[in-house]
Amino acid sequence: MEKDFRYVWHPFTQMQDYQEQEPLIVERGEGVMLYDVDGRAYYDSVASIWTNTLGHAHPALTEAIVKQAQLVAHSTLLGHANVPSILLAEQIVDIAPQGLSHVFFCDSGAEAVEIALKMAYQYWQLKGRPEKKRFVKFVEAYHGDTIGAVSVGAIDRFHETYRDMLFETFKVPYPYCYRCPLSLSPRTCAHACMDELKTLLAEKADAIAGVILEPVQGSSGIIPMPDGYLREIEALCKEHGVLLIVDEVATGFGRTGEMFASDHDGVRPDLMTIGKGLTGGYLPVAAALATDEIYEAFLGTYDSNKTFYHGHTFTGNQLGCAVALENLRLFKEERVIEHVQDVATFVAERLEKFWDLPAVGDIRQKGLFVGIELVRDRETREPFAFEERIGWHVGNRCREYGMIMRPLGSVCLFIPPLIVTKEQAGAMLDILYRSIEEETSARVGGTLR
Ligand SMILES: *Cc1c(COP(=O)(O)O)cnc(C)c1O
Repeated sequence: MEKDFRYVWHPFTQMQDYQEQEPLIVERGEGVMLYDVDGRAYYDSVASIWTNTLGHAHPALTEAIVKQAQLVAHSTLLGHANVPSILLAEQIVDIAPQGLSHVFFCDSGAEAVEIALKMAYQYWQLKGRPEKKRFVKFVEAYHGDTIGAVSVGAIDRFHETYRDMLFETFKVPYPYCYRCPLSLSPRTCAHACMDELKTLLAEKADAIAGVILEPVQGSSGIIPMPDGYLREIEALCKEHGVLLIVDEVATGFGRTGEMFASDHDGVRPDLMTIGKGLTGGYLPVAAALATDEIYEAFLGTYDSNKTFYHGHTFTGNQLGCAVALENLRLFKEERVIEHVQDVATFVAERLEKFWDLPAVGDIRQKGLFVGIELVRDRETREPFAFEERIGWHVGNRCREYGMIMRPLGSVCLFIPPLIVTKEQAGAMLDILYRSIEEETSARVGGTLR
């Protein structure tokens, strides 16, 4: 603990505040459980920031890494190839939405977003349309923390500080009624969000390279797009000749009950980013996927200057690709997607009970991607103040009851490893229910405890 405080700077963490509490130092994991250095057990109810698919310390995944390490741990993909990255690219293309047939590997979701943005930007130059260089983003979007990804992000608390470092974008509302970005009633808002995008594309498509979006917004609090909207956005992009970039870093690999969230609507993006669950949450591998149309625009002679000059040192790392391959093999063998759908139905029933808690303002679920938004007043939707740290208090309470739950502001999350059983999911939701109840009962209705 002393050395953690002294040497480690934690991500998305106010370090002064962090040091006022005993840190939870994880030593090992097994299935949906994590154990700290004192041997205490915790349910991993957020799948180690939404990455874990088949559980911790899965023998087959561990073996895949060990076997590969005995051959070679890493060799470069810059102008050379390696076996696991080839086999993995083939597998990814096989399961990806139709039309995405080329895989550009990297190490994190943010990098995958940078790659997709640069590909889209350069694509239009190669097509003789260099004026198409702006991107359309959505209110409350999150695409990672590198500067390009922050430029297409729109969560003010994370992103405002860096405003002068960012490139210009167009911003449109994300269609979700509960938090209507246009402050309309649910009834009138249904198509108003779409109209903003429609108008923008009709007027400015000549200046726009692409539209980037999360099919379910993750970091802004698990906000699913209503059915059919993604398809409508796809049609608008096609109509106006702009590229559709779907960021599936959080939603990919079964999280929402289909292999990719795009599959719910049968959407075929021009570019797609993947990460988080790709390796089962074991090693940092991510990728940007592109269509033939985009890939082929970059083909030319050595001196044609059409090369995509981009790469990361550990691109295509063998250990990461080997464990991703095993993860995807087990997805098929153990019918993980069907399991997610089955458990998600059970979870939906159990979530109904949460409406008994007066502080629950909204419950949002897509598969095993669940957000429970806490409010001070359900009728008026008056939020808890930032300083009240309501989600953080609930998370602390969960920890006392043996569960790790990292919230997003006042949104509590339930994003377990995909292999969670109904029994385990029920136990986790019980802890969450009790923790919300205890932390909010004295706070709702205007009085602070
Ligand atoms: C997590 C996330 C990212 C960033 O991925 P990192 O691996 O943390 O860089 C990008 N997009 C979405 C939608 C995410 O949820």
